[in-house]
Amino acid sequence: MGGHDDIKERIDALRWLLQKYRHQYYVEDAPSITDAEYDQLTHELEALEQQYPEWATESSPTRTVGGEAAPEFTTVRYDKPVLSLGNLHSLEEFQDYAARVSQWLQIPGPLDWTMELKIDGLSVILDYVEGQLIRAATRGDGSVGEDVTANVREIRAIPARLTVPVTAQFRGEVYLPRSRFDELNRVREEQGLVPFANPRNAAAGSLRQLDPLVTRERGLQAFVYEIRRLSGAERPERQSLALEQIAAWGLPVEPHWRVAETVADVQQFIEMFETRREPLDFDIDGLVFKLDRVDWQDQLGATAKTPRWAMAYKFPPEEALTRVRDIVISVGRTGTLTPTAELDPVLLAGTRVSRASLHNEDILRDLDVRIGDSVFVRKAGEIIPEVVRVETALRPPDTRPFLFPAQCPACGGPVMRVPGESAHRCTAGLSCPAQLRESLIHFASRDAMDIEGMGEKTVDLLLASGLVASIADIYRLDAERLLTLPRFAKLSAEKLAFAIDLSKGQPLARLIYGLGIRFVGERGALTLAEHFRTMEALESAGLEALTAVPDIGPRTAESVMQFFSAEVNRSILAQLRDLGVNMEQPMAVSGRTRPLDGQTFVLTGTLESMPRKAAEERLTALGGRVSSAVSQQTTAVIYGEKAGSKLQKAEQLGILRMDEQEFLAWLSNLPGDF
Ligand code: NAD
Repeated sequence: MGGHDDIKERIDALRWLLQKYRHQYYVEDAPSITDAEYDQLTHELEALEQQYPEWATESSPTRTVGGEAAPEFTTVRYDKPVLSLGNLHSLEEFQDYAARVSQWLQIPGPLDWTMELKIDGLSVILDYVEGQLIRAATRGDGSVGEDVTANVREIRAIPARLTVPVTAQFRGEVYLPRSRFDELNRVREEQGLVPFANPRNAAAGSLRQLDPLVTRERGLQAFVYEIRRLSGAERPERQSLALEQIAAWGLPVEPHWRVAETVADVQQFIEMFETRREPLDFDIDGLVFKLDRVDWQDQLGATAKTPRWAMAYKFPPEEALTRVRDIVISVGRTGTLTPTAELDPVLLAGTRVSRASLHNEDILRDLDVRIGDSVFVRKAGEIIPEVVRVETALRPPDTRPFLFPAQCPACGGPVMRVPGESAHRCTAGLSCPAQLRESLIHFASRDAMDIEGMGEKTVDLLLASGLVASIADIYRLDAERLLTLPRFAKLSAEKLAFAIDLSKGQPLARLIYGLGIRFVGERGALTLAEHFRTMEALESAGLEALTAVPDIGPRTAESVMQFFSAEVNRSILAQLRDLGVNMEQPMAVSGRTRPLDGQTFVLTGTLESMPRKAAEERLTALGGRVSSAVSQQTTAVIYGEKAGSKLQKAEQLGILRMDEQEFLAWLSNLPGDF
């Protein structure tokens, strides 16, 4: 970051932004960014305020409770502030915090903690007088809330009368069950209304409006978790006892809470809910750890924003904020130009991320990502992270929109946008060095022709030396020529020459895959090879013959046709043939039927004992076919860890299922000479 002024500007910008987002979230119940994004901005501001205490202020969003009472409601004033919670993000942070608490209290040894789910709804404060509900209000800004009594009376979970005539003030969370949320949004969309962003905002919007009938219709629910004040009964001495007491008085208490006596208990609780969010019918955005003993809670007290005796444990965010250092365009094997953002490294879902995909020009333009921008990146599954959004309010003054190049950055050749697609392609084909390079790397790769020793570095050397200018040239190399390459000694040259020679005998399927025909992946290549058996047959197959092959769709068939009709490709194939490259798919053992002939298998999930590919190869070697979709034709579904919908579908269709152990046992019982 630049100088002092820049930092002050950033702090101001962050505060302004956070206030804006708070208003949208708490008052309008319509956030425009995700909670993870909001939290990221807050963390950045916190860090800056800590580093530059001269610019910290009491009114900063980092030190105040978010929210405000909207003018259409009667207000309720709180003499005991309604606080927010501090955040933790890991077990280690919890341990540090617990150690600090021990130190403050001067209590050596472990403390008991009540662990609760952090329900993602909105806080309500409930007042009962002699067992009768007399008032309900929102948190507001923590000292002034909104009176929503009439609406809360329409929430069935909150009783009008307690089982005992106590006078007490409770705090709880009102939420909308997920099932109701889906239904509500479906109806809203049908009626042409804007759907709610998430169940929390739907709950807030359903409670913070003036018609109790609307609240009733929405089907809100509630959980109560705190006794704020009590007379006419003895105050429970522990949070855990308070929860039992609250439930005994007839209020709804979320039942998953536990008391932790050891760190192991805490860890177990975290693990249970971090992975097990699905079965709950409400959203949680974390867990809450509360010091169990109430007298110690009182001793610790609170800051202006949060109690010192409790902490929210937030689940790891799937999004992170970082800055774009550069935007680079790479040219893929088929000439596709892919823009990528190079980022200031940032931790995202536990890994360090320094690049994110921008996919294509359309997406890049829609996002309007510029060099120097602050962006949110997200990890979707295991795919590389992508840029979700630019925080334009944090954009430096001197940025310019990124211009997609009209020329290929690798060869200077013209770039064409494929009609009907969003991809841009360099049209130079294999005369573009970037495409040639990627094609060679792919051809030699492990899953294709498997030429050991011919990785990226060697390919670069071969290209730079001019020894190779096409796939066919690979087979014109010998140890003598390879020796002329820098860093190649006799042994390495001989080894590579041997590997090249060896690869000539690879089955047709690998050769087809290695050619890099669009839409033909490994499985497609195998299907084609097994069907046509020779390159000749495949080359001369018409569209009809291609589409008739099971598992080959029209798009793939079209692409295969195109590939073989191009003169350059035909020439390369002719050269490969002349140079002695095998053009046939071997029959497993000719004339013999194989044990799995005519049977179809689907693999799903991760296998522990072998890569998925090895399992596929084993099945195909035995004559089986491996498919990606489960249907009535499927013989069996083999499943590993984290198997998903395919396994479910197999269950529904009543298809044989084998877990890894069963699969291995079954394999070992099949005749072994295939
Ligand atoms: P918080 O949500 O992090 O934690 C405090 C809240 O937790 C309490 O107010 C209470 O309502 C709730 N809670 C749920 N279960 C609880 C339990 N068992 N025990 C105690 N409390 C429990 O803090 P906050 O100040 O209410 O709000 C900050 C949150 O709001 C952040 O998650 C932030 O991302 C989000 N927010 C989002 C936007 C946005 O634009 N997306 C804007 C502002 C705030």
